[in-house]
Amino acid sequence: MNMIFLGAPGAGKGTQAEVVCKELNIPAISTGNMLREAVKNSTEAGLKAKSYMDAGELVPDEVVIGILKDRIAQPDAQNGFILDGFPRTVQQAEALESMGVEIDKVIEIDVPDDAIIARMSGRRVCEGCGNSYHIEYKPTKVEGICDACGAKVVQRIDDKPETVLARLKTYHEKTAPLKDYYEKRGKLVTVKGQNEIAETSRLTLAAIKGE
Ligand code: ADP
Ligand code: ZN
Repeated sequence: MNMIFLGAPGAGKGTQAEVVCKELNIPAISTGNMLREAVKNSTEAGLKAKSYMDAGELVPDEVVIGILKDRIAQPDAQNGFILDGFPRTVQQAEALESMGVEIDKVIEIDVPDDAIIARMSGRRVCEGCGNSYHIEYKPTKVEGICDACGAKVVQRIDDKPETVLARLKTYHEKTAPLKDYYEKRGKLVTVKGQNEIAETSRLTLAAIKGE
């Protein structure tokens, strides 16, 4: 099953993608994580992406589409995958179609803007493996240290309040039109994001199973 997880920054689509991919044993492919990795390693794509990411803007389509195309060609993606954070523009959705990628379901995690803004200040990410946490909703076992790899857990540069507002604006302008795009194709399922991560996961899995 090929799925897309759609939602505003901080709506929890990444967290849900991680839960569901373990449940279904398919990879969660996060373009945000791949781009952060590329920036860290100063690859060509990373160098192009950094200034956009820091400002809360979208990285140009050709950079992201290139990265995504390579990733879904990998052996582990042949039995299905969850795309987390891609597509983010109608052009990217069209690019997926022209690559011949069939999408079975698009899960939108819907969280109102005011709740997003309140959540974002608590978000943390591991410098080592990219795992994400939240000081309130998904804390690390040891404060400031990643459960998975032991590296330091920090706030993302683009999680500063002013950048969060820019990212929300970008989401509404460029990404939210994808709801219509996939609705028209009969693929969209909306899940209301809950404060309890486990509760959202329950609703998300039910939506995937068509319940
Ligand atoms: P969030 O969903 O919390 O905003 P992501 O980790 O998905 O965070 O993305 C972080 C940043 O990476 C985005 O603000 C954007 O600059 C860039 N990015 C990620 N995916 C894409 C994409 N599909 N197209 C363009 N830019 C992207
Ligand atoms: Zn880690």
